[in-house]
Amino acid sequence: MEKVTGKGHRLLLMPLPFQGHITPLLHLGDILYSKGFSITIIHTSFNSPDPSTHPHFTFLPIHESLSESEASSIDSLHLVDLINVRIIQPLKECLDKLMRSKEETVSCFIADAVLHSTQSVCDGFKLRRLVLRTGGATSFVVFASIPLLRENGYFPIQESRLEEPVVELPPLKVKDLPKIETRDPEAFYEFVVQFVEECKASSGVIWNSFEELESSALAKLRQLFSIPIYPIGPFHKHFPEGSTSSSLLTPDTSCISWLDTQEHNSVVYVSFGSIASITKAEFLEIAWGLANSMQPFLWVVRPGLIRGSEWLEPLPSRFMENLGGRGYIVKWAPQEQVLAHVAVGAFWTHNGWNSTLESICEGVPMICSPCFADQKVNAKYVSDVWRVGVKLENKLDREEIEKTIRKVMVGDEGKEIKDNVLDLKEKAKISLKEGGSSYSSLDGLVTDILSLKSSTSEVH
Ligand code: UDP
Repeated sequence: MEKVTGKGHRLLLMPLPFQGHITPLLHLGDILYSKGFSITIIHTSFNSPDPSTHPHFTFLPIHESLSESEASSIDSLHLVDLINVRIIQPLKECLDKLMRSKEETVSCFIADAVLHSTQSVCDGFKLRRLVLRTGGATSFVVFASIPLLRENGYFPIQESRLEEPVVELPPLKVKDLPKIETRDPEAFYEFVVQFVEECKASSGVIWNSFEELESSALAKLRQLFSIPIYPIGPFHKHFPEGSTSSSLLTPDTSCISWLDTQEHNSVVYVSFGSIASITKAEFLEIAWGLANSMQPFLWVVRPGLIRGSEWLEPLPSRFMENLGGRGYIVKWAPQEQVLAHVAVGAFWTHNGWNSTLESICEGVPMICSPCFADQKVNAKYVSDVWRVGVKLENKLDREEIEKTIRKVMVGDEGKEIKDNVLDLKEKAKISLKEGGSSYSSLDGLVTDILSLKSSTSEVH
């Protein structure tokens, strides 16, 4: 059978300008480029990606005018709302130019799902919009249920009800529901409703996930949505390891040489992603928990991770020296490479979706410390459904940290978790092979994009 190809068709892709969203969107661009499509990345000036990492793409900046203080807001929901508003006008101007060009047919616009304001902009140009959801399908089902959960009294979340089951969404408990620190809690509900509705209004949703991992959530979404959904992940495994990088920060590769000196499956890799922050007290509990566990550790302490500190100032003096080389700290790691390293035995993570998926793909058991948004749902599934990790249940405490590290690194439960994660790793691999679920879903996506073209060509 002749393969369908996107040759001669241009796709416009737009990321939400945060690390955990830019990486999967550029990976999606790579995947669609490999199917013959030409790729244009329309991006904000804030956190703009480095065009030199993808010389085969066209990069078009728009100027959304965020002030420095707005861009450095720690209220990420407020920032997302601002971005959604500020991109509207410059995006219209950008699309106006592109759609007038007679040189190439623009087949469709693919936006990060969080950029919900792009739907009405695309509608104005009769340009079909597909959506990339960079989080998991399971957490999306939870987001889509928030109006109902609110009606049923789960929100605002009450401390006294944390251990109660959410009967509408088993096996979640109240403590697993999405939560976000923001100046205006009402803005969170409004955002969620808009984000879900504009996904439904799109021509289809692409997921960085695979059928075998999230089959029941994907089945629910198929009932809920009248548009196609395409689980074609894990995106980063469509290509050989390290083929492209889209890191906003420069990874410190010296940690790989340090990992080379460690025993197989011995190192705890610790990272809470690109946005989460912790208090000084939490930082110190982590430090002592890691030190007391007696396992070697590689720890990403991003500048800005510790609220009120530049970097490592809260560490007691000679803390690292006293460990005799058993610990290594970097500001940013080449995470995919780290997780693939034979020395790594566990990943202590905040369960951002990318980190969760990357850990599964390398068969690395997780220790879960979810912070906000979808992370609590991801952590619940990691620990209780897929059983590929253990959750740190209470507030960060050095003794509990030490105990949990031991549980995962040694002992029967740790072995069972390792077997489960290796099983999922294999399933992820198979899903991408010819005939696999993600492979077939991608074929469907390419075919559908080419058919979308006919409905947009009339505007040329
Ligand atoms: N990451 C990295 N180096 C680090 C920490 C994180 O390359 O030191 C990458 C990680 O591989 C992942 C992304 O940053 O792809 C974080 O995304 P995730 O969804 O896990 O969390 P977020 O940063 O969005 O909270």
